[in-house]
Amino acid sequence: MIFQDVVLVRYGEITLKDRWTRQNWERILSGNIAFSLNRAGVAHKMERGEGRIFVHTSDPRAGGIAANVFGTVSASPAQTVGSDLGQISRAAVELAGRAGLGSPSQMGLKSFAIRPRRSGVPFSSEEIGRIVGQSVQSSSGASVDLDCPDLEIFIEARRDRTLIFTDVVKGVGGLPLGSQGKMLALISGGIDSPVAAWMMMKRGCPVTLLHFDSRPYADAINQSMRCGQALAEWTSGRKIDFITVPISRAIEKISSHYPRATCVLCRRLMYRIASQVMLEQGCQGIVTGYSLGQVASQTAENILAEQSDLGVVVYHPLIALDKTEITDLARKIGTYGISEETKSCTAVPSKPMTRARREEIARAEEVLGLKEMGEALAREMTLTRIG
Ligand code: ATP
Ligand code: MG
Repeated sequence: MIFQDVVLVRYGEITLKDRWTRQNWERILSGNIAFSLNRAGVAHKMERGEGRIFVHTSDPRAGGIAANVFGTVSASPAQTVGSDLGQISRAAVELAGRAGLGSPSQMGLKSFAIRPRRSGVPFSSEEIGRIVGQSVQSSSGASVDLDCPDLEIFIEARRDRTLIFTDVVKGVGGLPLGSQGKMLALISGGIDSPVAAWMMMKRGCPVTLLHFDSRPYADAINQSMRCGQALAEWTSGRKIDFITVPISRAIEKISSHYPRATCVLCRRLMYRIASQVMLEQGCQGIVTGYSLGQVASQTAENILAEQSDLGVVVYHPLIALDKTEITDLARKIGTYGISEETKSCTAVPSKPMTRARREEIARAEEVLGLKEMGEALAREMTLTRIG
């Protein structure tokens, strides 16, 4: 185990913002990391500065936890030493030894590179590389390879302290959760919709989840709720509101009158209800797990007919992703195993409409009174808080 007294957290796009936004988002990110660490029982002290966050802790779990907080680009568990070349060299030699550089075993690391950065110190990066490199080379017997080394030793020398580390843990990226407006994510318990909600969370949006209870056509409340619990692992301790609205009566009516258009009309009803819930819950948009052409009903023509004249914004963050990309994400997020159990909706016709016409759908909606039905159903919503 490499000794660590601090974790260096890097963030990306935040640094491109104007001063006010940058400070605000840095504060949100730092707060989210602190919440996540507290939840895991990791004692720490946060410090912000120089376009980085420094998490002072010797707990080895801290790097992995910080890397999984939205907004983190990468994290490095590091050791702090004084900023003189003697101390830096000794620490680098020790670190290289702990990492197994030059060990005689077959699996041992045979080559290394020093990756120096400096600011406010009276020696150059080139000097750090040369002097520290010589010490590491003579103590380990390993060779220098700047292009493809077995071990990289990063040294960041500043006026008051120097950080030294070997690992750069890739972070989840995105923007800090809470830096963007809240979304109402339609969650079906299938593979796609929890991933779609997660993608918006990754871009900084807190989410409220809305599940349409369609029993007996589809029975996925349990899976949707468990997906919600998995998503709540990514919120740094914030709870997620989970709303259900029963829509089976409406599905029955739709499918008996317009069997081929069942999916399009059902989705239109969902959007009508969601638009109302969205405003009531203070959300800025609706999110779905649509992926273009993935199933017969998810075509550009249908999307146009379904969303026409809605008056709210609907986001489809998976629209251009392939199924394999979506399932890979579902595995990473922790929802795949839950969604796998979900059975498909039995109200879907054998030949669903793929080229819905806006005027026809609008007429059918009128005939069935879906607008009024949606308003009445929205009043039957129930809300639970998960996480
Ligand atoms: P998923 O894997 O998310 O279920 P899907 O590929 O099976 O998606 P559909 O069943 O056509 O596709 O649903 C498209 C989108 O509509 C879903 O991703 C979800 O956002 C929303 N949706 C579908 N059914 C429900 C439901 N019962 N409750 C809430 N949202 C739903
Ligand atoms: Mg589905």
